[in-house]
This record gives sequence, C-alpha cells and structure tokens, in this order.
Amino acid sequence: MVKKIFFLFAILLSFLNLTWAKDIKNHKDIPTVSVSIPPQAFFVEKIAGDTVKINIILPPNTNEHHFEFKPSVMKKLEQSEIYFTIGLEFEKIFIDKFHHNFPNLEIVNMQKNIKLLDFQDSHHQKDPHTWLDPVLVQTMALNIYDALIQKYPENKNLYKENLNKFLAELDNLNLQISSKLENIKQKEFIVYHPSWAYFAKRYHLIQIPVENLGKEPKIKELKQLITFIKDKHIKTIFVQNGFPENAAKTLAHQCDAQIYIINHLSKDWEKELLKVSDALSKALK
Ligand SMILES: [Zn+2]
Repeated sequence: MVKKIFFLFAILLSFLNLTWAKDIKNHKDIPTVSVSIPPQAFFVEKIAGDTVKINIILPPNTNEHHFEFKPSVMKKLEQSEIYFTIGLEFEKIFIDKFHHNFPNLEIVNMQKNIKLLDFQDSHHQKDPHTWLDPVLVQTMALNIYDALIQKYPENKNLYKENLNKFLAELDNLNLQISSKLENIKQKEFIVYHPSWAYFAKRYHLIQIPVENLGKEPKIKELKQLITFIKDKHIKTIFVQNGFPENAAKTLAHQCDAQIYIINHLSKDWEKELLKVSDALSKALK
C-alpha cells in the first residue's frame, strides 16, 4: 500500500515537473512580438526563426484600413515585447491613444528609411502598401533585423545568417517577377483596392483602382471605367477578399471581363506575389 502511494506520488511529481517545464518554455523562453498584417509575420519569421512567437493583429479577410481595436487584441499586445508597425490607420490610433498603457511594448516602424508615396492621390495620407515590393521588403528586413538584435542580442549570429539568406531570396524573387512581366504589351491593370502602387512602380505597370478614396465608385466613375476597360480591351478585373464586390462585378459583367481574386494580405507572401505576377503577365500580354 505504502509502495503504491509512493509510486502514484512519484508519477504526480514527474507530471507536475513536466507541465512546469513546458510552461516555462512557452511563456518565459519564447517572447511574443506583434505585427499588424500577415505579410509582416512572414518577414519577421524569416529573420527571427522560432526565437519569437508572432501575433498578427488584423483578422483574416478584413479591410486593413477600417479595422478597430478590441479588448482581446489589446491583451495580445500586452503580452508582446515589440510591435512592428506598417503605416496603417489603426496603428496611429493605438500609438496616440493607448500606447502609454503599455510601457514595456516597443514600437518599431518597419518602413524606416523608405520614401512613401501619396495614397490614392491624397496628399494628406501616405500609401502604406510597401510590403508588395520585394526590393522595399529588403529595407524592411533590415529594420526588423536591427530591432531584433537590439532586443535579443544573444541571437545575433542566427539573425545575421537569416537576414542574409532572406535578402538573397528577395533578390531572386525580384528577378523572377521582372522576367514574368518582361514581355507584357499593356501596362494598365484594373484592381479593386489600390494596394499595388509600389509593386506597379517597381515593375513599370499602372494600377487603375476601382475603389475611390476607400469607397465604392459612383455611377459616373463606373461609366468612365467601363469606357476605359472597353477601349483598352482589358479582360481581367483583380479583386481582394474583404472588400465590396458590387462595382467589380458590374464592371466584369458590362465589359465581358473575368474577376480574378488576389490577396495582398497573404501570409504565404512569396507564393502570392508569384501568383499575382503570373496572372498579370497573362492579363497584360
Ligand atoms: Zn490597403
């Protein structure tokens, strides 16, 4: 009997010990960092590997310009040591109104040293969509690296190695996209939400948005677009999940064009850029 109790006690102890060790590993050893959108998580993971846990603030299929903070999101930020921002509206609200409640949360601007374009012809707002240009992502990768080595200097060698590997991958991706878009005849492509300005600039394309300053286009604007699409014999309308569909559907119907869904917020970032480049090379030849 005594033996049996002792045996059970030993099992209980080892179980407690295991849970305790696991607990320590999950909560103490691996710090959490936050990012606003999934592509940033792809970039941070490339450099940090599994030395950090990455929390993505924006829920799937959500318009990144109309998101508002909820208490559950605040809780995740409270557990984070770094928040990598990317020039979105909701980040500015967080920094202005709530950041003082998080004294241990370091804010790192991923777009440091990048010259931002004006957004949607508005001189009051800068275009945040730098993450769709692989060459600008190289600058963003350096910013991530700088922040990580300052916060976690013990991992410097790993981060340096990962950074160099990622920069080379981005060089290669840039070459691949350039060659896919080398022989296109047409420059203009129609896309619902104008998130492709930096990409278009890099690869000498012209982005024509359907959306007008964040809203569905008015009848007059829609008519102008229809004329334009017919004149240019454009047969593909690119749209994004999480944005209104009516105007794009009307255009496709009126102009006998196809709807093609792309995702500028994909976590599978590299694959998505290649997919979009293939679709563009087909649509613009
Ligand atoms: Zn956007």
